[in-house]
Amino acid sequence: MPTFVRTEKCDGCKGQDKTACMYICPHNLMKLDKDGSETGHAMKAFNQEPEQCWECYSCVKICPQNAIEVRHYADIVPLGASVQPLRGSDSIMWTIVFRNGNKKRFKFPIRTTPEGSIEPYAGKPQVNMDDIDKPGFFNMGKELKGDRSQLIRL
Ligand code: SF4
Ligand code: SF4
Repeated sequence: MPTFVRTEKCDGCKGQDKTACMYICPHNLMKLDKDGSETGHAMKAFNQEPEQCWECYSCVKICPQNAIEVRHYADIVPLGASVQPLRGSDSIMWTIVFRNGNKKRFKFPIRTTPEGSIEPYAGKPQVNMDDIDKPGFFNMGKELKGDRSQLIRL
């Protein structure tokens, strides 16, 4: 059950070359229809291959206009219900609408560091490639050094 774009909300990320949804989709599914030739809606994004969508919600969360929705699986979100996130600078709000119209909202804190600023190896020791020859790694060492004959003997 793929994403779809509310065209009345989408502003095409103000005509930038790569829209937020195009940038974030791990499957390269979102596309901006610049001249409207593909969807009839110029400067609106669309999911160009809906059957490939993973429903990962990445594009839904990043869209600054909250224009993308997901038709989630019926066993999780039955017809008539919806699950919609709205990302803020320090939190994300999930709005759950039940089939009977009841609404619930859940707010969670999100990252507090600027995007791209995390250094995953900061404070960790440098890797010493000579260690790879030590007993605990002796098989791995042959493999990493490309010595196929050693691999076959093992
Ligand atoms: S991120 Fe949202 S506003 Fe930007 S192009 Fe995609 S759907 Fe439209
Ligand atoms: S839900 Fe995930 S896979 Fe589907 S279009 Fe959005 S970012 Fe791509």
